[in-house]
Amino acid sequence: MSDTIFSKIIRGEIPCHKVYEDAHVLAFLDVNPLSPGHTLVIPKEPAVTVDALSDDASAAIGRVLPRISRAVLGATGASAFNILQNNGALAHQAVFHVHFHIIPKYDDGTGLGIGWKPQSFDHAAGKELAGKIAATLAK
Ligand code: AMP
Repeated sequence: MSDTIFSKIIRGEIPCHKVYEDAHVLAFLDVNPLSPGHTLVIPKEPAVTVDALSDDASAAIGRVLPRISRAVLGATGASAFNILQNNGALAHQAVFHVHFHIIPKYDDGTGLGIGWKPQSFDHAAGKELAGKIAATLAK
C-alpha cells in the first residue's frame, strides 16, 4: 500500500495528539473533529481497509476500542457516541489506512449525523444472499 499521513504519524514523522499507544495500536485526536473528543484508533499494520486487516491486528483493535471509548466518554462527559469506520473512497474514506472514529454525540447535536435510508427487504433474495455470504466465509 502507499504511504499515508497515518503511517507518518505512526513513525513519529508528523505530530499527533496521542491518547493511547501499544505495540499494535495508536489512538489520537482527529484534527477536523465532528465534536470534542473525536478520536481515531488505528492499527500499526498498514492495511487500507478493514477487510484486509489480519486477525491479530483486528484483535488488537478490538481489545482496546471499548477501553478508549470509555476514556473518551469519561474525559468529555459525553454519554453517547458513534464508532464509524469507512472503507473505500465511495464510502467516504479519505485516508487509506484503516481507522476507527470514536465520535462523541452531545445534547447540542454535535457529533456524527447519519443519513439512514432503509430499503425494502425481500426474504427470498435475503435467504439466497445470506447463504452465499456464509458459503464464502466457509471457504
Ligand atoms: P475518513 O474519511 O474516514 O478517511 O477520515 C479520515 C480522518 O482523518 C478525517 O476525519 C480527518 O480529519 C482525519 N485526519 C487527517 N489527517 C489527520 C492528522 N494529521 N491528524 C489527525 N487526524 C487527521
